[in-house]
Parts: sequence; C-alpha cells; structure tokens
Amino acid sequence: MANARESELHYPLGETLPQPGEALDLAPGVRWVRMGLPFALDHINLWLLRDRVDGRDGWTIVDCGIASDDTRANWEKVFAERLDGLPVLRVIATHFHPDHLGLAHWLTERWGCRLWMSATDFNLARLASSSTVGMGGASAAAFFGSHGLTDPESLDKIRARADYYPKMVPVVPSSFRRLMDGTEVEIGGRVWQCIAGYGHAPEHISLFCGDAQGAPLLISGDMVLPRISTNVSVVDVEPEADPLTLYLNSLARYLALPADTLVLPSHGKPFTGLHQRIDQLREHHDERLAEVVTACAAAPTHAAGLLSVLFKRKLDLHQTTFAMGEAIAHLNALWLQGDLRRELGADGVYRFSPA
Ligand SMILES: [Zn+2]
Repeated sequence: MANARESELHYPLGETLPQPGEALDLAPGVRWVRMGLPFALDHINLWLLRDRVDGRDGWTIVDCGIASDDTRANWEKVFAERLDGLPVLRVIATHFHPDHLGLAHWLTERWGCRLWMSATDFNLARLASSSTVGMGGASAAAFFGSHGLTDPESLDKIRARADYYPKMVPVVPSSFRRLMDGTEVEIGGRVWQCIAGYGHAPEHISLFCGDAQGAPLLISGDMVLPRISTNVSVVDVEPEADPLTLYLNSLARYLALPADTLVLPSHGKPFTGLHQRIDQLREHHDERLAEVVTACAAAPTHAAGLLSVLFKRKLDLHQTTFAMGEAIAHLNALWLQGDLRRELGADGVYRFSPA
C-alpha cells in the first residue's frame, strides 16, 4: 500500500535511476543495478559491492533478479561494462523470494562462486523450487477458502498456479554459506553486519555497514521499503502463523541504527529517513489493525470480507492472494494476542469477533 507520508523521506539521488544493464555509483565500491519484474511491482534493486575474496579482487552481488532471458542479458551487460574487468566473487541473497533468488544458480555457475544466505530460506527455496510449498495449488486454495474466498474462478486459478515458484526459480544452488543474525561479513575491507528479520520471509537477512566511508549503509532487502509497505502474509503451510507481530518486532531492531543511515531497499529508491519510515510502517499497521477490530465488532468477519476494508481498490488475482495473506496476518495477530476470537462455521469458514 502506498506511503502517504513519503514526503518525510529524502531521496539523495532525486529521480535518477540506473537503466537496465547499467550500474550507478552510490558510494565508494557500492553500485546500484535495477532489473525489471513482470508484476505490478515492476522492478527490483540489486547491489554490487567491490570485494576481495581469497586473495582475488572482484565483486559481491547482493540479490539476483528472477530467472528470465531479459535479466540474464542485462546482467551480461553489467558484467561487460560495469565490473571494471573483475569477476563476481560471491552472491548474497537477502531471502528466498523469486525476484531475489531466481538467478542465484545461474550467477554462481557463471562465476564459479558461492551463494550466501540464511539456512532457513535456503532450505525453503530448495523445497519450493522442486514442489509447490505455500505457492499456490490445492492446499493454498483450500486455505483461502477457509478464510472466506469463495469465488470459484479465483480458487481455480490459485489451484492451477502450483508452479508459481519453480517457474521463476527453476534451480537453487546445491551448496551455500550460512548467514545468521549477527554474522559479520567482511566485504572489500569493510564489515557488514547481518540483521535477521522475520514476518516477510522465514529468515530474511539485511546487511548494515557502519564503517562505510561516508554515511552508514543498510541493504534493507524487503524489510524496509520507502513507498510500499512490506508484504506480511500468512500462507497455507503455516496457517496459524503470526507474521505481523514478528515483522513489527523485527522493525524495532532497525531503530537502533543511526538516523542518517542511507537505506538501499529492494524496491523504490535509496533513501534516508529510516526512523521516520519505521514510524510510518507502525502507524500503517496500527491503522489497519484498528480497521479490522472495528469491522469484526460490527459483525463476525472472515478475511475475504476484510479485503474491501483494507484494500480500497480493485485487485487482480496476484494481488488478491497477497491481500488475503495480509488480511489473515492482521486477523491472526489480533486473535493470537487475545483481542479477537475465531469460530469455525458450518460452512468451513473462520470468522473473527471481539474476544
Ligand atoms: Zn520478498
């Protein structure tokens, strides 16, 4: 959902964006690459960090783009023109989502280098690329059905979408190096600290560098985005999860970072105003939670019934599945903290009302 308080943030580069296949210098040894995506969210930011690994000079890539010919062609252009003649030495993935991990296999094979990411996301990616875990199919349709999504056409499409993840991530590397909360990674002589975040992906890793020449840098991944709120969804594989509480608790950890940190987000533009953005995201979710409570107080309500309350616009199928996941996340948060109770109706649908 768009950020109504976006003007409180500052974009140091203004409207400047790297064109496909280009890389824009952001700070010494830090370059910004932008790749297209075939969604309403039409781009992802990827980062190049000048590095030295095992005695060799080169680059670390942070996040990969989806597996498509277009993305591969743009990477080749970057390799030819923007690596200063040096190789890629490692690939870091912030989390397992297709736009971040899709080309990890191709990149690591292309350069004979290692993938670094969290173990939880690595293992889920390996599973998801060879099956349909939580990415559509019959169990996702049944799950959304139990939360009131009854439109047969939508449910048929969700059932048919079982290959959603493997299509964009056909192969995941068979080996990796593990990143955890607190892991310090030396990149090009500077220390980057891993910050694990929850609620968007199982174990999302952001990278913070406090000793950059110039402003502190945070590669925030999808945990802190300037314009849209991070997707926080319940999926069928863990129906009683409380990702919203996990996400809000994770956000609090970024408040400890310096106020002048330059945030490098996966979507949108690099910005300063990290603390303001956290405040905005908290306010956003507080408002959504209050709307859910109000709706449930008026009458017992299921998640599908909240879509028009929470998302005041027409949604396509892709957006509907995200919106359902988000609505259930808000309901589960209120239910699990004891503000709402849920009841399973004779129609097999969960409805929520004040506890
Ligand atoms: Zn993501």
